Amino acid sequence: MLDDLFSPPAAGIARVALPVPVDQLFDYAIPPAQAAEVGVGQRVRVPFETRILTGVIIELAAQPSRDARGRLRSIERVVDSEPVLPASLITILREEARAVLCPLGIALAAAIPAGSAPRTLRGAGLTPRGRDALRLGAAAGDALRVLQLLEDGPLAPQTLRRRAGAAAAALPLLEKDRLVAPVFLERGPRVRAARVRVATVRRGVRIEASCDGELKRAPRQAALLRELAVSGSLATAVLAKRFKGAAGLLRSLERRGLVSVETRPAPLPGSGELGGEEVASLTLTEEQRIACGEIGSAVTGRRAETFLLHGVTGSGKTEVYLRAVADSLRIGRQALVLVPEITLTHQILGRLRARFGDRLAVLHSGLRPSERLAQWERLRRGRTPIAVGARSALFAPIEELGVIVIDEEHDTAYKNQEGFRYHAHSLALRRARAASCPLVLGSATPALETRYAAERSQLRRLSLPNRIGGRPLPSVELVDLARERALLPRGRKLILSSLLLRGMRETLSEKGQCILFLNRRGFSTQIICFDCHHVERCKHCDIALTYHASEDRLRCHYCDFQTPPPEICPSCGARETSLLGVGTERLEEEVRSHFPDARIARLDRDTAARRGTTVAILRDLRAGNLDVLVGTQMVAKGHDFPGVRLVGVVNADLGLHFPDFRASERTFQLLTQVAGRAGRGGRPGRVIVQSFSPDHYAIRPVLDHDYESFYAEEMTHRSSLGYPPFGRLAQVVVSGTEEGEVREAAAQLARASQSCDGCEVLGPAPAPIARLRGRHRFQLLIKGSDRAAVWQTARSMATASEELSASIRVRVDVNPVDML
Ligand code: ADP
Ligand code: ZN
Repeated sequence: MLDDLFSPPAAGIARVALPVPVDQLFDYAIPPAQAAEVGVGQRVRVPFETRILTGVIIELAAQPSRDARGRLRSIERVVDSEPVLPASLITILREEARAVLCPLGIALAAAIPAGSAPRTLRGAGLTPRGRDALRLGAAAGDALRVLQLLEDGPLAPQTLRRRAGAAAAALPLLEKDRLVAPVFLERGPRVRAARVRVATVRRGVRIEASCDGELKRAPRQAALLRELAVSGSLATAVLAKRFKGAAGLLRSLERRGLVSVETRPAPLPGSGELGGEEVASLTLTEEQRIACGEIGSAVTGRRAETFLLHGVTGSGKTEVYLRAVADSLRIGRQALVLVPEITLTHQILGRLRARFGDRLAVLHSGLRPSERLAQWERLRRGRTPIAVGARSALFAPIEELGVIVIDEEHDTAYKNQEGFRYHAHSLALRRARAASCPLVLGSATPALETRYAAERSQLRRLSLPNRIGGRPLPSVELVDLARERALLPRGRKLILSSLLLRGMRETLSEKGQCILFLNRRGFSTQIICFDCHHVERCKHCDIALTYHASEDRLRCHYCDFQTPPPEICPSCGARETSLLGVGTERLEEEVRSHFPDARIARLDRDTAARRGTTVAILRDLRAGNLDVLVGTQMVAKGHDFPGVRLVGVVNADLGLHFPDFRASERTFQLLTQVAGRAGRGGRPGRVIVQSFSPDHYAIRPVLDHDYESFYAEEMTHRSSLGYPPFGRLAQVVVSGTEEGEVREAAAQLARASQSCDGCEVLGPAPAPIARLRGRHRFQLLIKGSDRAAVWQTARSMATASEELSASIRVRVDVNPVDML
């Protein structure tokens, strides 16, 4: 009998994931009083070292794990009454976190909307000694003032300082004398879901009969009811603007049972109050019909199949997505549509809205936290069937998924670049499997990995090879800059060729708009021959070498191969090599000098940093208030500008020289995408691409929008060097303020992992960005054909990094997509 009393309850221990950089779960005792409240997936507040943290319960257990015994602490408080994320989603996050070597607690923190958990502040409160001192009148002056302020309860430090003024200086001494002690103060969540109150005409109410009947003597109520009947329901805030005393009128109508008023999570501004389905009246093309049939049958058959919808810009992919979403809704399930960056891709959002109205929740990083939370609540329990958003929309609490769509699937924005380094593909695949629903990846230029997966029958490729209505693809013209340059006086930089200048002049005289595009990410460290534009590359890695001015050497950022810069160009024998450097600013100047009367704007990282500027510039462009837009790759993203008739690519080669094995792929994708932008408004578009290497396999096929020939060529390169999709990669970046210490730490990690078979470790080498915000950066690359070996080696480095000094930071990126 006594034994029973002393044995722990069935599940006395909660295993909690905490947002700390240690890859394990932490055990906490569940206080008996809370045993009935806790469950897997709920958040709890727990003591950790000297802080109180919010974690998520991942498992319940009867006994603590061995290393937790003896110093077991208890849960302070249970935050949620139900799981914060669906159990299936937690399982998926757990798998993905493991795959990318991220502690689960950090992954979960990324998945849960910021600010939605309660906070704990450290405050100050009276001790019993302090109370005695007050009661006995033992304190005076500043000390007395502070004690009095705390008499009614503990206060947060800021509050105390504000109220006590200069007297707050007495606090340390009071703490030392143990009259005052630190206490934890619980505060509610910083963020609450934005809400609206919505009035709705009750079902079955006959408007005219009511107005002529019971409301005969209440004309203002009748007027409001009629107004409401037009749309069925309206926000009370809207009604308040239209009717004086709306609140009172609504209360009366509610009392009569004609109208109901309820609080709902707020839809986003501009999403419209009511959703009416715009019935799709398009007749599908034969190819669209096949694609819709295949995807539709997977949706209704609830099969977790993956499709690649491969179609040139304007081939009608979006229409196929919309039908897949409709199919999913028809069988009572939800749908998730991912776009690379929602603030830059209004187009698909607009079309979803036109077709599905406010049955749409929108999720992206531009939302205020309260708006984001409101969108989540709308999705939870299926109240809103469709979610559209950037990659983080994959965390949305959608339980009845019927289809997932990833538009522009090749976009690098689908990989999260910090903290939880998940890839949207991988997470989407896991969600689709768990929900037993299809995943649709759409692109005009699929990622090589995706196209290769289709080749190996891991996914179904559905092809839309033609533009809708036989509209021609924009014509692309290539300018050979080398040839053109030969005609110029020596030493003068060639920025705009005569063909491009002529094209611009013609376009502007016909009141058309031009976009000039400079694919450049602030790199001026590649040695490029001024005459033939030859770039020195690493013999082992086929990566453009980077010039390090301080040592006057060229270095490979993958394997650290080094060589002095050539005195004469190895390709053409010219004596003059030079750092290439034309930035967007210089380009803008050049355009102004040629077209002094044109309205010109520039869009790059600098201008984009100013909030709202990007949107304003794009709006101006669409409204026809701009003649020429000069910009970086930002302008290539899925915009639709009917007035743009000429797109000029100033130097197509620049992207080829990034120290990244995907440089060719990115270049081809970007150029193709840019080419697809021109002439969407009915008139034929013109694209002029300037290049020093017009015959490069990543540039030539852009002429014919020929993905397949690029793909074939690029695959032979990848295969010969063992890069993905043939091999696997992981990148480890080590950084710190002392260069020597960082290099040594990187070498130590390399040694820690040397025993692994099936992969090799390249480096340490300086990272492509060798210094960033005062920190030196070195990188190691793990490369191999065996994915398990690469993962294992990366993991051993991650583990070894926990032993390094605290001043060294280590970032492990499994399957990196951006090698900077
Ligand atoms: P993508 O997404 O591949 O760029 P869209 O879906 O935007 O292509 O289609 C391009 C244009 O063609 C859009 O204006 C769209 O409304 C229209 N469209 C799509 N499918 C059809 C169709 N079957 N018949 C007529 N017009 C269509
Ligand atoms: Zn190399």
